[in-house]
Amino acid sequence: MNPARPYDVVVAGGGPAGCAAALALARAGRRVLLADADNGPPKVGEALVAAGRVLLDDLGAADRVLGTGHLPCYANLSSWGSSAVHAVDFINDPHGHGWHLDRRLFDRQLREAARAAGAEVAEHTAVRRPVRHRNGRWSLTLRGRGDDRTVHCEWVVDATGRRAAIATRCGARRKTHDRLTAIHLTLAPAAGTEAADGSSLVASDEDGWWYTALLPSRRRLVAYFTDADLPAAALTTQTRFMQRTLAVRHLAQRARRHSPPPEATLRRAPAHSAHLDQVYGDGWIAAGDAAVAFDPLSAQGIITALYTGKSAGQAIDTQLRGDETALMDYTAKVRAAHTAYRHGLRTVYAQETRWPHRPFWARRLAATTPHRMEPHHDPATGSPPPRA
Ligand SMILES: Cc1cc2nc3c(=O)[nH]c(=O)nc-3n(C[C@H](O)[C@H](O)[C@H](O)COP(=O)(O)OP(=O)(O)OC[C@H]3O[C@@H](n4cnc5c(N)ncnc54)[C@H](O)[C@@H]3O)c2cc1C
Repeated sequence: MNPARPYDVVVAGGGPAGCAAALALARAGRRVLLADADNGPPKVGEALVAAGRVLLDDLGAADRVLGTGHLPCYANLSSWGSSAVHAVDFINDPHGHGWHLDRRLFDRQLREAARAAGAEVAEHTAVRRPVRHRNGRWSLTLRGRGDDRTVHCEWVVDATGRRAAIATRCGARRKTHDRLTAIHLTLAPAAGTEAADGSSLVASDEDGWWYTALLPSRRRLVAYFTDADLPAAALTTQTRFMQRTLAVRHLAQRARRHSPPPEATLRRAPAHSAHLDQVYGDGWIAAGDAAVAFDPLSAQGIITALYTGKSAGQAIDTQLRGDETALMDYTAKVRAAHTAYRHGLRTVYAQETRWPHRPFWARRLAATTPHRMEPHHDPATGSPPPRA
């Protein structure tokens, strides 16, 4: 390829959203560069819902991406609203089972699929300094392993995740809705020859909720979700984290079979809901968490990133063909997904009524009352708003 020739589109961010956008654009015959900085929060174990296969199929990537390296997930168990465990078995799901992903592998496989579809892929490469010129072109600086150069393009896709690095530089405002944070630890494989546990478990406690699942490596992920400003978020040592894990009955049954490897570190990741006030502007479009980031309780983050990424790629292609309504249609799709998510999330949180006076739950219950959960403005960083 001639490096001086402008790209039609540069996609910043090689997670699910960026890869889906690059796949859609490359398959439409566009000249596209996908650059991934590999600088996001560490990816641990995440689940992909069964319908994810349909989107990956549409993008021609299902076999390459889901063929190897991930564990099937056959059921979601939850202890929510009572101490009993409720199971949702995917035997009733028309799309079949879900997956417990090796997230790093999943992203790598998606980037490979984008490359195979014709996209140029630059890994370990950050997109910096976007400048929009009067001729309607962008110039962007690429900084990475052996790839320091300036490139030009007509469109930029912001798929940089929660930081929405390009959109916020272009004046879009990021609004966050809560202060949810994840604290997580990966436990060593269980001793012996335990059969793979093909289910995930969610369990609530008085200050938040827990998630556990076996990873494809047979390690076990244990994650606790609470608000960053609450005392429960001050779980700073492995020992305290494990004590609290073992105090939750259904979680303890699973975690006891594993132990933290000596080198394991407790990690944190922002997990709050957020959205941009505009998802496209002059020559840019945002997709995935950059456009709309979901509470992991919904398990809709990856599928929404794939959906918005694919839709953003298609909207750019359609717009380049002269259809001026494509971007408005894209906004409508993102808004519809966001509205459905907000409704679903409120419904699920409202089902846990055991601790109405604990701050974590009081905030969620208050949010079910209209006008009580106004979004906070969060310039540029995507981090939770400061404490009141
Ligand atoms: C603790 C936790 C648990 C979760 N569990 C689940 C789950 O079980 N199921 C689920 O569906 N969702 C889950 N999610 C949500 C899911 O992780 C996200 O919704 C999904 O990763 C969003 O994909 P994305 O492509 O928009 O962004 P990301 O996956 O964040 O990818 C963004 C990429 O952009 C790159 N980047 C950033 N800046 C630049 C730049 N300037 N130039 C180039 N590249 C850049 C980063 O390196 C990164 O690779 C969870 C989230 C959290 C925090």
